[in-house]
Amino acid sequence: MKKVYSDYWEEWVAEKDFKTCVACRTLDGKIIGIDMPFIKPPLHENCRCRIEKMEVVSEKDAEDYIDTILATDRTVYNNFAGKLPDAPWRIWYEADKTNLVESDKTTKILYSSDGLIFVTRDDYKSFVEVSGGWNHIDDLPANVVNAYTAYEVHGWKGNFAGQTPGTNAGRSWGNTINQLPTTDSSGNPITYREFDVNNRIPGADRDAERFVVGSDGSIYYTDSHYGQSSSPSGLPDFIKIK
Ligand SMILES: [Zn+2]
Repeated sequence: MKKVYSDYWEEWVAEKDFKTCVACRTLDGKIIGIDMPFIKPPLHENCRCRIEKMEVVSEKDAEDYIDTILATDRTVYNNFAGKLPDAPWRIWYEADKTNLVESDKTTKILYSSDGLIFVTRDDYKSFVEVSGGWNHIDDLPANVVNAYTAYEVHGWKGNFAGQTPGTNAGRSWGNTINQLPTTDSSGNPITYREFDVNNRIPGADRDAERFVVGSDGSIYYTDSHYGQSSSPSGLPDFIKIK
């Protein structure tokens, strides 16, 4: 099958033998954003490191991984080795793929509070992007898909026809505890707006489901009021749709 490569991430690869220095060995497998400023090999004289394109998993595999995340309790992953991309707003979680095939014991799925998903099939030595991340979910509930489609058609300009009074669409969302990226890859600040997924029922409080739309074009979904309540379906605080 034809390999597909990530549009966003590349990987530091070191030749690993007795001559490999600690610095290069440490960087081996590190995920680097394509437009992220980062040192490039050679790191030193006679360095044999290179930057490689990152493969992305097939759509079928992506769906398996996402099903696994949804079926697994969240465990925080401490990115001590620093191979996953760090950001001040990012929390990493991991899920085992043990509910699938026995040979997959070394497969771990790493996913972040702001919507990134990677998989390692060699015990954290190297990673592959689960491309598009959450937008592979065909089984987001119908209310989410319907509201998303209606806002999309409407260009995220505010309420669409049929929404009840008090249903918010487009109010500014502060990202006050920096749960989502605060700047884009060029360092420009990102501002966010929030959109209710469901109609506000007259006389009741708004429920916990929201879309958050970034000025950089990103779109997130939360069913836990930004993680302030627990997700009824076990989702991370945010899933990145776009
Ligand atoms: Zn090197």
